[in-house]
Amino acid sequence: MREFCGLLASELKAYTEEEGSASYRTKQLFDWVYQKGVTDYSAMSNLPKKLREIFEERVRLGILSLEKVEESDDGETTKFLWGFSDGQSVESVLIRSMKRRTVCISSQIGCPARCAFCASGQSGLIRNLTAAEIIEQVVHINAHLLEQGEEVTHIVFMGMGEPLENYEAVVRALKILIDPELFGFSPRKITVSTVGVPKNIKRLMNEELNVNLALSLHAPNQQLRKKIVPYARKFPLEDLLRAARAYAQKSKRDITYEYVMIAGVNDKREHAKELVALLKNEQCCVNLIPYNPVDGINLRRPEREAIEAFRSILTDGGVRSTWRYTKGKDIAAACGQLALKQKNLLNMVPNQYKVTETTVANR
Ligand code: SF4
Repeated sequence: MREFCGLLASELKAYTEEEGSASYRTKQLFDWVYQKGVTDYSAMSNLPKKLREIFEERVRLGILSLEKVEESDDGETTKFLWGFSDGQSVESVLIRSMKRRTVCISSQIGCPARCAFCASGQSGLIRNLTAAEIIEQVVHINAHLLEQGEEVTHIVFMGMGEPLENYEAVVRALKILIDPELFGFSPRKITVSTVGVPKNIKRLMNEELNVNLALSLHAPNQQLRKKIVPYARKFPLEDLLRAARAYAQKSKRDITYEYVMIAGVNDKREHAKELVALLKNEQCCVNLIPYNPVDGINLRRPEREAIEAFRSILTDGGVRSTWRYTKGKDIAAACGQLALKQKNLLNMVPNQYKVTETTVANR
C-alpha cells in the first residue's frame, strides 16, 4: 500500500481525479495533512465520504505512533520517540530558540556511519526510512506546535541516520517539503547534514533543490577523521571537500562545517590551526558543538576554556565559527540516545564500538 506523505502532489492528484472529484478537493486534502496536521481520514469532515474511503483503502496515513515524549527542564527541547508497525523506533527533536522552531528529523533507523561519539551509530544501520516516515515526523510535530499557536520554521536532517545513504527517500521528502502545494517550506529553511558521500553530494547538487548543506567534519585531517568517523575511510577528505565546495558554489549557499569537540581528541590548538589552513579561503562557517556525553561511550566534553581557545584561533585565522550550546542534555538529546535507551540497544553494542577517549585517539 502506498503512503500518503511519501507521494508527490501529482501522484496524489491522480487518486482524486480517478474518483472524479473536483480539483479543490485535492487542495482540501493537502490542507488537512500539511497545514492542519491531521493524519486520520475520518476527521477530514469537508471531504466526501467516498473519497475518504478510497484513500483509506489505498493510501496509508498516520504510520508513526508516538511512543514517548521527553521535555528538557528549560522547556526549550522536546524529544519524540516514534514507533513503527515493524517494532522499530526512531526519534525527532524539536528545538525552540527565540522565534525559531527547528525540527531535527531522522532519515534512517540506526546509522551506517558509526561515528565514535554517537549513540545512533553504535547499532549500525537497521533500515532506511521511507519518504513518508521522514515527512510524518514533521507533520506530527507541526501539529503539536499548531495546538500552541506556533509552527515549524526550520528543518534539519540531523537525527538518526546518514541522509545521503538513503538518497531516494530523502530527495523525495525534500521535494514534498518544498512543494508550495504541500508543505511549502523555503529550501533556505532546510539543512541536510552529512558525514559526506561525495557522489551523492554531487547528485543532490544536480537536483537543484538548493537546500543548505552541512558537512560533519569533526577533524581537520583525514587521519584523525577516520578515527572519529569510521565511514571516512571510504572517502578521502579531499574528495569530500571538493564535492561540498562545488555544492556551495552552485547553490550559492555558504557551507556549514559541523565539528563535535571531544576532549583530548580533536580540541587541541594544533587541530584549530590545521582547520584554519584547511578552510581559510572559503566562505563557510564552522559550527563547534561541545560533545554531549552518551551513556556507554567514554568520551568527554572539553572544558569551556579549551573551546574558547580553539575558537579564537579560528577567528584570528579568518574562519567564521559559532559555538552551539547543546540543548536538552537532561533529556538525552544526543543524536540517537533516546531510541537507544528505549530499545536498550546499548547492551547490543559490539565491543569494538565501545570506544574510549584513548581508543579514538589511537585507532
Ligand atoms: S553522528 Fe550522524 S552520521 Fe555519525 S553515526 Fe551518528 S547519526 Fe550517523
